[in-house]
Amino acid sequence: MARAVVVGAGIGGLTAAVALQQRGWDVTVFERASSLEPVGSGLAVAANALKALDTIGVGDEIRELSAIQGEAGVRRADGRWLMKTTEESTSARHGDSVVLLRRADLVDALSARLAPGTIRLNTTVTGVDPESGRVTVEAGRPRTQRADGPASGTETGAADGMAAGAEGVETGPADGAEGVEADLVVAADGIHSPIRAALFPGHPGPRYSGVTSWRVLIPGGGVPGQTFESWGDGKVFGVMPLAGGLAYCYATDTVPAGGGGGDQRAELLRLFGKWHTPIPALLAAASSENVLRNDVHHLATPLPAMHRGKVALLGDAAHAMTPNMGQGACQAIEDAVVLAHLAGEGAGLAGYTAARLERTAKIVTRSATICRTSQFRNPLAVRLRDMMMALTWRLAPGRMTGAMDEVLGWTPPTS
Ligand SMILES: Cc1cc2nc3c(=O)[nH]c(=O)nc-3n(C[C@H](O)[C@H](O)[C@H](O)COP(=O)(O)OP(=O)(O)OC[C@H]3O[C@@H](n4cnc5c(N)ncnc54)[C@H](O)[C@@H]3O)c2cc1C
Repeated sequence: MARAVVVGAGIGGLTAAVALQQRGWDVTVFERASSLEPVGSGLAVAANALKALDTIGVGDEIRELSAIQGEAGVRRADGRWLMKTTEESTSARHGDSVVLLRRADLVDALSARLAPGTIRLNTTVTGVDPESGRVTVEAGRPRTQRADGPASGTETGAADGMAAGAEGVETGPADGAEGVEADLVVAADGIHSPIRAALFPGHPGPRYSGVTSWRVLIPGGGVPGQTFESWGDGKVFGVMPLAGGLAYCYATDTVPAGGGGGDQRAELLRLFGKWHTPIPALLAAASSENVLRNDVHHLATPLPAMHRGKVALLGDAAHAMTPNMGQGACQAIEDAVVLAHLAGEGAGLAGYTAARLERTAKIVTRSATICRTSQFRNPLAVRLRDMMMALTWRLAPGRMTGAMDEVLGWTPPTS
């Protein structure tokens, strides 16, 4: 049986592990943290990723665990809608809804599909040889957070995820796992991927996008069936209703990297406390200790390839993007099912790069453009931007929805 090692048990790594195992690979996932998914936040999973999850039999479970996006749109800080779509039109156009759920629920659903013992927590990959597929690992000290660290710009924070010891998970390092030979190594080790840096030493790596982000889950908040993102001067505030009466709020502000510290709920109230309803009430109901703050970085320069030798890069390791299109995890999920489909086939990993690099690079660029537009502070520029958005939506809605067709209309490869 061919052997695959997956580095990193984030959404991308877990999806790859499930997809490869279902295709008969002997899979081991090494994760340096001591638990899965400690990020206490929500996630939008769009039609393209739901179709990918369907191919590994997880799509319907995710739909059941989720709230649907419902009526969704962009507003101004005073609440006026600039554009709005209905659930029916989104589904009709893209063949599925956008669904909203806790990240931990997606991680639980994926890890539950893995054979017992597939995931080795507290195990850090310290070296990968792309030619031989040899992976070296080291028993790490138990961590309660994933190792990206609070200032990494990606995912870390308060633990609400599945604890070690759940289905498919071993809590200790692999026995005698100083070195493992693999036919395929999947580098799903996140935005600060040491594997990417080692394989592509000339690549400049992640760049600060100009915004810092906050995320918080709030019990009993939000308007069921209504999702919105409100734009102000250099700031964005989004609200997604999740199942069970939970609201997921996220926000960004245009500030230099490296801030933070102190009470982040108080900071959110300072920045957004005078915005339209229900934002102030939601923030009043939030707990300070549940607010995550991360600077947002992205891979502004595409990699020359998404593989080298026996190593395939996937998810944020390959194409970290700003969160403006809600596609970072969705693209990681697409990568994973495409990789499992192509690995071990004729064109192998070159086929994977051919299938994924151009598509993901385009989405990184589009996302960064939206991010820059959200950073306007000059009042005139903000008014013009808002006017353009509202006018385009009224006069040529197809131009805006059409831009998303290519992203959401993706279909997974068929056997
Ligand atoms: C504010 C915000 C909102 C977002 N909203 C959305 C959204 O609504 N929809 C969406 O699709 N995307 C969204 N994203 C993006 C999404 O969160 C990421 O793209 C996605 O989580 C990336 O998954 P990943 O598996 O590639 O990497 P990660 O989740 O970063 O996982 C990498 C894993 O590798 C492990 N690791 C690293 N190095 C090693 C090593 N040497 N050995 C072993 N393990 C290692 C880490 O501990 C980690 O567990 C958002 C991002 C942000 C910042």
